[in-house]
Amino acid sequence: MSESSLRADIVEVGRRMYARGYTASNDGNISVRLDANRLLMTPKSVCKGFMTPDMMCITDLEGRKLQGDRDPSSETLMHLEVYRQRPDVQAVVHAHPPTATGFAVAGIPLDRAVLAEVLTTLGSIPIAEYATPSTRELPEAVRHYIKAHDGMLLANHGALTVGADLFAAYYKMETIEHFAKISLVARMLGRENLLSREEVTRLQDLRGAYGIKAPAPICAETVEDASCQVVQAPAGTGSRLVPDHVAAKPADDEEEIRLTYRELTALIQDAIRSLR
Ligand SMILES: [Zn+2]
Repeated sequence: MSESSLRADIVEVGRRMYARGYTASNDGNISVRLDANRLLMTPKSVCKGFMTPDMMCITDLEGRKLQGDRDPSSETLMHLEVYRQRPDVQAVVHAHPPTATGFAVAGIPLDRAVLAEVLTTLGSIPIAEYATPSTRELPEAVRHYIKAHDGMLLANHGALTVGADLFAAYYKMETIEHFAKISLVARMLGRENLLSREEVTRLQDLRGAYGIKAPAPICAETVEDASCQVVQAPAGTGSRLVPDHVAAKPADDEEEIRLTYRELTALIQDAIRSLR
């Protein structure tokens, strides 16, 4: 793709992110590989909804500015880390979509086997540890998950997605926010039926059938080095729909009561007295 069409695509992705409320004010940043040694990137301190193609910066893979009137994004280090770790990635998108960011603030990863299209595309969406924005801590937090994931939440911050082109990366951001909204509604309704592990395996096989490239397979157990996409799916065949916490809720006569030590002692003493 030509440099001018990549500039136009960044403008369009920024416009969509702002229009959908994924960023407020000057939040968020977008970058794309121009060639083997150069990146095209959104500049620092501009609203992503009102950019023009001439605003973009060109940097090398160390983040040094090669061209542009403005300075590159304050999250340049995070983008550079992604490109270093993922030679297959052509574009990186970072935003603060409010529902997904709510999950990132609550410390709840989007890793349950719930929606087929999320499982086939992103697998799971983990949460990278909190790091101060724009510092070297952030690329370090992202490094842990980026080899096996195309999208992640950033604790108390936002979300990050990558792709084979700008729109592929952007659409993953849409998928994450959409999934977060659906997950929130299901949890508010009080139950979330999970797909079985067997069904997850079937969906994983569909990746091959549809030519969906994923950086790592889906797995059911957490692995220390985050080398696969950990998805929570109940074991067992047949049970494609398994009630979640609703099933675990105690019946009315089993509900928990709380007593102080003094109250408990009094009850026991009463019982002993009645035995005499
Ligand atoms: Zn941010």
